[in-house]
Amino acid sequence: MIVRCSCAFSPLKLHAARPSAGLRSHSSARRKRTLDRARGIARLEGLKYVYTGSVHDEEGGTTYCPSCEEALIVRDRHQIRAYRVTESGACTHCGAQAAGRWQRFGKPCGARRIPVRLSAPA
Ligand SMILES: [Zn+2]
Repeated sequence: MIVRCSCAFSPLKLHAARPSAGLRSHSSARRKRTLDRARGIARLEGLKYVYTGSVHDEEGGTTYCPSCEEALIVRDRHQIRAYRVTESGACTHCGAQAAGRWQRFGKPCGARRIPVRLSAPA
């Protein structure tokens, strides 16, 4: 069991660790299959925002709306290819509120890093 609480709405990003010397024979396809399997298990256990990283896999890297199942954030490795969440965190397709903190996001930025300002709560 992965989770049985309100944590189901917390995002979970699954990474393939860099293979150690003893595991260099593991291909990127094998790492992708392992991440796919872990993602499937997490979704079956009820996690809503599960996606994969560190491998080229647009399907696995995509976060879907738990309400309408449309893609909210489409990623491929380090690139954001689509962002379909409003500034207030609503799905642009159905209007359902997505869990989390959101902000205005312009066009997809590719591999460019986005500066984020962090501050202590007031
Ligand atoms: Zn939706």
